Amino acid sequence: MSSAVKTDTDGLCHVQRDASWGPEVRREILQGIADAEKGAAIANLVCWIIVALAASNLPNAEHYVAPLLLRIAAMIASRMSFSALRRRLATRQRLDSALNWMLLSLFFGGFAWGATMVPVVVEPFLNPGRMLVGGATIAGVSIIVSLLLPEPRFAGAYIAGFFLAYGLGLVWAPEQFAIKGAFGILGLFAIFLAYGAVTAIRHRKAAETLVENRRLGEELSEALAHAEFLAYRDPLTGLANRRAFFQHGELVDGSRARHVLAIDLDHFKRINDTFGHPVGDRVLIGVAQAMGLALRELESGDHCMARIGGEEFAIILDVADQKVVQMIAEMIRLEIALVSTQIAVEGLVTTASTGVSPWLPGERLDTVLSHADHALYRAKARGRDRIELAVRAG
Ligand code: GH3
Ligand code: MG
Ligand code: MG
Repeated sequence: MSSAVKTDTDGLCHVQRDASWGPEVRREILQGIADAEKGAAIANLVCWIIVALAASNLPNAEHYVAPLLLRIAAMIASRMSFSALRRRLATRQRLDSALNWMLLSLFFGGFAWGATMVPVVVEPFLNPGRMLVGGATIAGVSIIVSLLLPEPRFAGAYIAGFFLAYGLGLVWAPEQFAIKGAFGILGLFAIFLAYGAVTAIRHRKAAETLVENRRLGEELSEALAHAEFLAYRDPLTGLANRRAFFQHGELVDGSRARHVLAIDLDHFKRINDTFGHPVGDRVLIGVAQAMGLALRELESGDHCMARIGGEEFAIILDVADQKVVQMIAEMIRLEIALVSTQIAVEGLVTTASTGVSPWLPGERLDTVLSHADHALYRAKARGRDRIELAVRAG
């Protein structure tokens, strides 16, 4: 979806989504028509049966055979094109060719109903059966037209087909009847169209509301997911943030011994000052990846890597064995040294100092982290790019 930036008087940039929902509303309208078609097809079939029964008792019954057969073919064609449309809507495929077939089959459908009216107008005589044929035809046509009106092109194709056949009938009709018949049908159609237009507007509004609500729901869940990401993740490196780090510390099984590493990049301010902030950012991302690579060597467990400050990282290792922890800390140190070669900026050196503290059962994470921090300061004081173990009483 396209976005436009609009600057408000408060000077903050409010990014507004462009509300171009047209295609989706249209799909929704087509879906509504396709869903209603099944019911309309049954009503249409009932009208066909009424016409057939009424026509069979008329003196010119044989003239209704061809239009009624045409009507069956049209019903089959429209059922097929509606099911193609439904399939495409369900699989979210392009609709162009399905819509063209729809227009053709609807034109044919209108033509077939119009053809049923031809013997009615060409041989006008008073007979209740003839009234029934005319009435059932008009009822069938009006059901279909009001179903199609939310998509005016569909209704247009259907009405065009109907009037083509009906108009041809009027050409052969006795002159007196032709004028009355033309005006009569046009009047009836005007009433159907007026009623159908109101329904169509309501239908469109409902589709718009549905699409708008769906979009709002999607945007809300996207915003919630993003908020959750920001609440617990560092957006630059993708690692856990300080909050998530301490939350992890509260949730882990406190009866097991673990280790905590405090890692601080060496002379990072100098890196920023010499090579620029963007290079500094790339170093931070590289360091996060370097930590991840080293941790891959471990068996799975409740490990947690976090960026807890600007160029400060902390790791909880779900490992009790200090030798293994020292090996991992050393791997991290070596991997961080390689970050400068990956970034390939001349003169860039990436090193970090690390403090390691055991985390014994029953201890608080913040206390353990401060032990690791003290060891880290010692590593800085002793020349950086090194690992120091916390000196723990007892
Ligand atoms: P030491 O070896 O003693 O740790 O020195 P240092 O320069 O690494 O430490 P110092 O605390 O003086 O500098 C940290 C720098 O980290 C300062 C700050 O501008 C930079 N920094 C903090 N957050 C970011 C960030 O997101 N991106 C970049 N590029 N720099 C950051
Ligand atoms: Mg620091
Ligand atoms: Mg530093």
